[in-house]
Amino acid sequence: MSFFKVNHNCNGCLACVQNCPAGALSYRDEGNKRTLMHNMSLCARCGNCWRICPQKAVEFEGILKGQWDEVTTMELVHCMVCGEPLYTDGFRRTMDGKLDYEPANLCPLHKKTFSLDAWRHLAFDEKAVRRNAV
Ligand code: SF4
Ligand code: SF4
Repeated sequence: MSFFKVNHNCNGCLACVQNCPAGALSYRDEGNKRTLMHNMSLCARCGNCWRICPQKAVEFEGILKGQWDEVTTMELVHCMVCGEPLYTDGFRRTMDGKLDYEPANLCPLHKKTFSLDAWRHLAFDEKAVRRNAV
């Protein structure tokens, strides 16, 4: 049972993890899933996660439990070349409405190292891009 809860608005952006002063929030990327975790024994109950969450997703409900709780699990988007986890599907959907371009699913390394030719292929054939990178 988890004492720290998020509602369905959570998109896995990790703003709460990055801004928790007590290290009480963490996450795990495994396969196609990102899992947000909270440790009540580290939590200072400062409310920073609640204030900082851009999705208004944090819901407090808790007493000291003393272990890592899995808060929520969501789909992950990976780099199309090396498979490194990039962000969640929900975060991608949130950003889709805010960007005036369509970002490719590439990690920083493969964004930098892709040849111009590969970028041309990217527009037409994702499989061709994978071959170009090896
Ligand atoms: S709870 Fe809020 S800040 Fe934390 S991952 Fe979910 S949407 Fe982002
Ligand atoms: S209440 Fe404060 S210490 Fe607890 S998880 Fe949120 S930001 Fe971290």
